[in-house]
Amino acid sequence: MENRWYQAGLSFSCTRCGNCCTGSPGTVFVSPPEIKKLATAVELDADAFIQVYTRTLQDGATSLRERSDGSCALYDPQKGCTVYGARPRQCQTFPFWRKVVASETAWDREARQCPGMNRGSIRPAHEIEQTSANDGTLSSARAKETRFNPPSAGRPPR
Ligand code: SF4
Ligand code: SF4
Repeated sequence: MENRWYQAGLSFSCTRCGNCCTGSPGTVFVSPPEIKKLATAVELDADAFIQVYTRTLQDGATSLRERSDGSCALYDPQKGCTVYGARPRQCQTFPFWRKVVASETAWDREARQCPGMNRGSIRPAHEIEQTSANDGTLSSARAKETRFNPPSAGRPPR
């Protein structure tokens, strides 16, 4: 591994504030296996889940839907993520996304919206490297559209 700006590791501990699941609309990519898992979690078959909870993006990729207030359709203000154990990889890997760990500036910008960043346990650089290489945001081009792009908040993991 080459020498990264986060060589000493980065700390993160989710506060469950919900910022990343609410706010401005964004994109949460879901793959067919993730759809299957999510459908099981909400007790629907995959086709019904696709109809109710997803939308198709211009490039053909599938994203979770948002409500009119921009919150994820699977977010409950009282309970948080209602599919936590089945949440998509993109949600699991935040904030260790390629585009977020790309530079200290990008990390600091994201941290303004995610109070869990820069606190709690330290993730070692090699782990960050592995996670960001497979962060669930698909291509870096698609990652630009993701929900966690400022000014919207991020989205995920607790
Ligand atoms: S990941 Fe960050 S923004 Fe999302 S709920 Fe946790 S602390 Fe809040
Ligand atoms: S963690 Fe992901 S799936 Fe769960 S409510 Fe937030 S954005 Fe939606």
